[in-house]
Amino acid sequence: MLDFSLTPDQEALKARARKFALEEVLPVAAYYDEKDEMPMEVLKKAFDAGIMNADIPEAYGGKGNGLIESALVTEELAAACPGLATSIFDSSLGVEPILLSENETLKRRYLPKIAGSFKLVCFATSEPGMGSDVAGIRCKAEKRGDDYILNGTKYWITNGGAADYMTVFATTDPGKGHEGICAFLVDRNWEGVSVGKKIPKMGQRCSNTAGLNFRNVRIPADNVLAPPGKGFVMAMKTFARTRPIIGSFGVGAARSAMEFALEYAKKRKAFGAPIQNFQAIQFKLAEMYQKIETARLLTWKAAWDADNGTEPEVNASIAKFYATEAALEVVDEAMQICAGYGYTRMFPVEKLYRDIRLLRIYEGTSEIQRIIVAGHLLTKYRPVMPPLADLPLHREEDPLSPGFGEEGKAPWRCRMCGHVHYGEEAPEECPYCFFPKSAFRRS
Ligand SMILES: Cc1cc2nc3c(=O)[nH]c(=O)nc-3n(C[C@H](O)[C@H](O)[C@H](O)COP(=O)(O)OP(=O)(O)OC[C@H]3O[C@@H](n4cnc5c(N)ncnc54)[C@H](O)[C@@H]3O)c2cc1C
Repeated sequence: MLDFSLTPDQEALKARARKFALEEVLPVAAYYDEKDEMPMEVLKKAFDAGIMNADIPEAYGGKGNGLIESALVTEELAAACPGLATSIFDSSLGVEPILLSENETLKRRYLPKIAGSFKLVCFATSEPGMGSDVAGIRCKAEKRGDDYILNGTKYWITNGGAADYMTVFATTDPGKGHEGICAFLVDRNWEGVSVGKKIPKMGQRCSNTAGLNFRNVRIPADNVLAPPGKGFVMAMKTFARTRPIIGSFGVGAARSAMEFALEYAKKRKAFGAPIQNFQAIQFKLAEMYQKIETARLLTWKAAWDADNGTEPEVNASIAKFYATEAALEVVDEAMQICAGYGYTRMFPVEKLYRDIRLLRIYEGTSEIQRIIVAGHLLTKYRPVMPPLADLPLHREEDPLSPGFGEEGKAPWRCRMCGHVHYGEEAPEECPYCFFPKSAFRRS
């Protein structure tokens, strides 16, 4: 059964998120972007409205939302401000390794706190010297008795300057690659934890990004999220669940940009007519809408996969790179339609443009998504079609080759170019590609 309809609860959640986006996010977005500041009170309101940290299971005191719910909420928030949407969603990214952890004691201790009161959790794999190559982490975790001592620096950490808790990925031995990767839940107030200055950015200036430094930070054994050897898989599984939602950022931002362009196209006149009358503009709008609808389908499919127990990794990557690249194309076209005004800071398209450029970079670049999808195709994908050498032959005749069906004549297929020769044996040489007899195999 295929069903794209939302449940009454999902419709209500979407309406709540839309109301929050229009009333609490949109009015402050441009202001905080100019100020380059993250408004903590908006995050607190999002938590109070039940649209932040809402994916913690009910067993731990949470709302138990799935990824579809997260996609619905994020599309609405990102439509109003991708930067604030990042700040709000980032806590789910930080919580994900806790949800994936096998450390039940830690889950029971932290998840009810995060579900029940306003807490931010950030996620830290990236470092000054690495981002894509998670197995190349240098932040060092040294075992001391049952505890670990953490030393190193994390960089680009969203909400790094505001989070109460940090899910930090480290290595026991940089020489071991992914085998050495482990993960910990770190309390911001522990001795030896420090936060760097806010990193100035091109866009998403309503979200906080900072470096984190750990100097001889003692991590109690209870705070191990993943022991050495299990941290890499945990990071990959986290991304597989959060990448569809980055797709939703693209859907929301692109939707806004299209709506601003649509309104402008109706009002703006050139050569004596509203520009909406020009087919060049209509085609742009049609393609923008097509990309938004396609992107939403892909993100929902990947989110649905995750919610229904299907391994979401490949569809998550497809959704992420399609939706985020489509968003950039849509916002670019929206700017083209709004033209000079679109390029100004008084029109909202310019901010969307700056904000969404990041989507192709964080949580795995577009290149990394392509590597994942290509890797799947090359190693796991099971084709339906037979290989060229085994293509079935027409049962009654072969217009390309004489000799079909004649007594004693068997089909011989050239493995290089696909030519089928009928004969008692293979020809000395292929008449098409000149490969020798040895290239032929009996079909
Ligand atoms: C605003 C912002 C917020 C962020 N938030 C967080 C956060 O909360 N937590 C966190 O851990 N990280 C965060 N990041 C880091 C982000 O995930 C990384 O920037 C991203 O993964 C890319 O890593 P990099 O910048 O080190 O680029 P690199 O990995 O150095 O890559 C440089 C370029 O080479 C390409 N490349 C790399 N490897 C390959 C390959 N094998 N084949 C082909 N091309 C390749 C990349 O695609 C890219 O184009 C954030 C980044 C930014 C800018």
